[in-house]
Amino acid sequence: MQTAEIRGRWLAFFADRGHTVVPSASLVSDDPTLLFTVAGMVPFVPYLTGLVPPPYPRATSVQKCIRTNDIEEVGKTPRHGTFFQMAGNFSFGDYFKEQAIQYAWELLTTPESAGGYGFLEKDLWVTIYLDDDEAFGYWRAIGVPADRIQRLGKESNYWSTGQSGPAGPCSEIFFDRGPAYGADGGPATDDDRYVEIWNLVFMQYLRGEGSGKDDFEILGDLPKKNIDTGMGLERVAFLKQGVENMYEIDQVRPVLDRAAALSRRAYGADHEDDVRMRIVADHVRSSLMLMSDGVMPSNEGRGYILRRLMRRTVRAMRLLGVEGATFPELFPASRDAMSDAYPEVKSDYDRISQAAYAEEETFLRTLTSGSAVLDVAVAKTKKAAGAELPGDTAFLLHDTYGFPIELTLEMAEEAGLSVNREAFDALMSKQRAMAKADAKAKKTTLADLSVYSAFRAQGATVFTGHDTLQTESSI
Ligand code: ATP
Ligand code: MG
Ligand code: MG
Ligand code: MG
Repeated sequence: MQTAEIRGRWLAFFADRGHTVVPSASLVSDDPTLLFTVAGMVPFVPYLTGLVPPPYPRATSVQKCIRTNDIEEVGKTPRHGTFFQMAGNFSFGDYFKEQAIQYAWELLTTPESAGGYGFLEKDLWVTIYLDDDEAFGYWRAIGVPADRIQRLGKESNYWSTGQSGPAGPCSEIFFDRGPAYGADGGPATDDDRYVEIWNLVFMQYLRGEGSGKDDFEILGDLPKKNIDTGMGLERVAFLKQGVENMYEIDQVRPVLDRAAALSRRAYGADHEDDVRMRIVADHVRSSLMLMSDGVMPSNEGRGYILRRLMRRTVRAMRLLGVEGATFPELFPASRDAMSDAYPEVKSDYDRISQAAYAEEETFLRTLTSGSAVLDVAVAKTKKAAGAELPGDTAFLLHDTYGFPIELTLEMAEEAGLSVNREAFDALMSKQRAMAKADAKAKKTTLADLSVYSAFRAQGATVFTGHDTLQTESSI
C-alpha cells in the first residue's frame, strides 16, 4: 500500500465519521515557542485549550512535522525521521475515550479490501496508563486479549504541557514485527520489535503546577474532554510495504537509491554505509519540505536547523566517498517522490533548487579546508595527550568554514576527542553581543516578533506535541 493510499484511506475513514478534513498547516508553526510543527495537534491548540471556540466538533488532518530532537536516531532506528507526516483525529468536547479506541481499532484491522489497513489483530499490542482501567475495559471489549495490554507510567503514557492545564492518560498501539527482531516481552520491553504506530491522548483532567512533566497533582476533571491522536504515516507505510524501515518506503527510497548510485556502493552491503544512505534520504526530504515552506539556510533559528540538515547530508555523502556536488541529483529524486502529495515542491522547484544547490556549493568550498584545520587541531591535541579540542578551533570552524557545532562535535568524536563546549559557547555569545550592538547602531532589528505579543498576552498554554518538548533552547 503506497503512502498516498494510506493517507487517502485515513482521511476518507474519518470524513465518513463526521470529521472535518483540515489541510496540513505549514512546518513553520504559528506558535512562537515552537521552531516547527512537531505534531498534528499543534494547529488545533487554541481549540484544545478552549482559547478559541472550535469551528467544528471533530476534525482530521495529515500534518507535516519536523522533530529535530530525533535527528540522532535517524538511520539507526527504523522509525525516526526528522520529517514525517502525522495523521490525526481530534474531538473538541465531542466523542471521547471509548469512541477513539473503537475508531483506531476499526481502521487498523478492517481488511484492505474493505478500505482499512488490514493489520491482523494478533500482530497488535496496546499500552495504557497505569491506572486507566477505563481504557483497559474498552480494549478488552473490542477483543484485545488482556496479556497484550501493558500498563506504563507517566514517562511514556501520560500527556501534559509540563505546567498547570489540561492533562490526561495516553494509550498507544504497537505492531509486533516478530521474533526475528527481539524477545517477546511486548512494547514495554523492546521498541525495535514492537513498533509504535499510533498514540491516543485522552485530555480529561486539569493538572496543578508541580515540579515538571511527571510530578503533579490532578485538580479535577476538565469541563470539556478532548481527543488528540497521532499515527505515523511513514511507520504504517513501512510495515504495510514489507520493507525494513521508513527510509525504504515509496516516498523516501528513491533518494536513498540515488545516494547509493552516486557512491557506487550497494545498499545493504555495509552497516555504516547503510546508516549514511538513510541519513541522506531523510535529510534531503526534510530539507526539501522545509524549503518549500519558506525556510532558507542561515545561521539562526529555523534556518540553522535546515543548514545543519543540509551540511550533514553533504558530509554523509563525503563519507560515502563522493567528493563533488550531489544535491542536483538528490533533490530532484526527492521532489519526484513527494510532488504527488505536495505539488508545491514541483511548482516552486526553481527557487528551492537554486538555494539548495548554492548552499551545497558554499559548504563544499570550505569543507576540505575546514577538515584540514580540524585534522591539524586533532593531531596537536593528541600529541599533547589532550582529550579535548579547544573552543577557539570549534569557533573558527563555525565562523570561517561554516561548520555547525554539531558537525565539529561529530567529527571530533570520530577522532576520539571531545570539544571544549564552554569556550565555544562563550565565543559565540561574544559574537552575538557584538552583532546585536552593531545592528542597534544601524537601527535595524534582527527579527520582528511583535505579531506574537498579542498571542502571548492571552497566556496561551504551550503545547509541545504528544511527549515532545522541543523549544528553541533544546536544539
Ligand atoms: P517514539 O517513541 O517511537 O519516538 P513518540 O512516542 O515520540 O514515538 P508521539 O509523540 O506519540 O511519538 O507521536 C505520535 C506518532 O507519530 C507516533 O506513534 C509515531 O507513529 C509517529 N512519530 C513520532 N515521531 C516520529 C518520527 N520521528 N518519525 C516518524 N514517525 C514519528
Ligand atoms: Mg519519540
Ligand atoms: Mg513513544
Ligand atoms: Mg508516543
